[in-house]
Amino acid sequence: MGTDCLFCRIVAGEIPATVVRETPTTLAFRDIDPKAPVHVLVVPKEHYADVATLSQSDPTLAGEVLATAAAVAEDEGLLGDGFRLMFNTGAHGGQEVFHVHAHVLGGAPLGPMLARSLG
Ligand code: 5GP
Ligand code: ZN
Repeated sequence: MGTDCLFCRIVAGEIPATVVRETPTTLAFRDIDPKAPVHVLVVPKEHYADVATLSQSDPTLAGEVLATAAAVAEDEGLLGDGFRLMFNTGAHGGQEVFHVHAHVLGGAPLGPMLARSLG
């Protein structure tokens, strides 16, 4: 993917980020605008637009993203009290950056799953 993708540019080191974990295929870095005491984004280094595309194209890599997210949760001390792992996807999912990323959120009770309920 070209340099117009924000997270490809972070992977390439062209835009600074606070990296907390790196594997040969994934990168984890702190969200610039954290929504919880711990808010880390986990991306595959290879560009896929969203979690559906990634999982259908390369399930092994999708698993590596999950494994990195779990390692981040452990490093951040979240395994005891729990955490939330989230992939916003597409317009209704509120996705803003179209390079797939898992949000690892925790460090405090996170409230209901969604901001509002149906109906
Ligand atoms: P989305 O809404 O696509 O699921 O999440 C995008 C996330 O990327 C947001 O939580 C936003 O704060 C974060 N973000 C946007 N730009 C940057 C950036 O330049 N650096 C970092 N570390 N996070 C960013
Ligand atoms: Zn990208």
